[in-house]
Amino acid sequence: MDRVAVFPGSFDPITLGHLDIIERAVPLFDKIIVAIGTNSSKNYMFSLEQRIKFIEDSVAKFENVEVMAYKGLTVDFCDEVNAQFILRGLRNPADFEFEKAIAHTNRAITNHNIETIFLLTSSGKAYISSSIVRDVMRNGGKYEILVPDVVRI
Ligand code: ADP
Repeated sequence: MDRVAVFPGSFDPITLGHLDIIERAVPLFDKIIVAIGTNSSKNYMFSLEQRIKFIEDSVAKFENVEVMAYKGLTVDFCDEVNAQFILRGLRNPADFEFEKAIAHTNRAITNHNIETIFLLTSSGKAYISSSIVRDVMRNGGKYEILVPDVVRI
């Protein structure tokens, strides 16, 4: 059976931190679905179409990476696409505590066997977050060093 992983997130926008996780996961799975969760109560800086395009252009060189958008629970989306794994990145202890709760909850609320796989951020990328990138962008800073080349405003 193919090993399929869903990498869920907001990706508003995709950063070099996200890309690092994707690149390092490419050899581990048969297919990776970068899944943009859409939450109507969140205010995004980039539209869903822009976020999809930024990710598609960033991962174009990988044959086994796709981009999709989804609504609702990540575990339900995993069922729909027959994914057995959820991929998440860990930057620091705060990420760990938060992710631990989500991973336990996801296992508790599904009858399917879904394992969350964590990769630690490569050194030098752990400080990058989409929210800080958005602040740098809004205030005219050098955001280009934090995001893939295809992400431009
Ligand atoms: P969410 O809204 O779910 O936090 P994000 O787009 O911010 O979505 O993040 C998606 C995933 O990418 C999460 O697992 C997050 O920990 C991971 N991530 C974000 N930034 C980095 C980074 N700099 N290095 C490694 N992983 C990261």
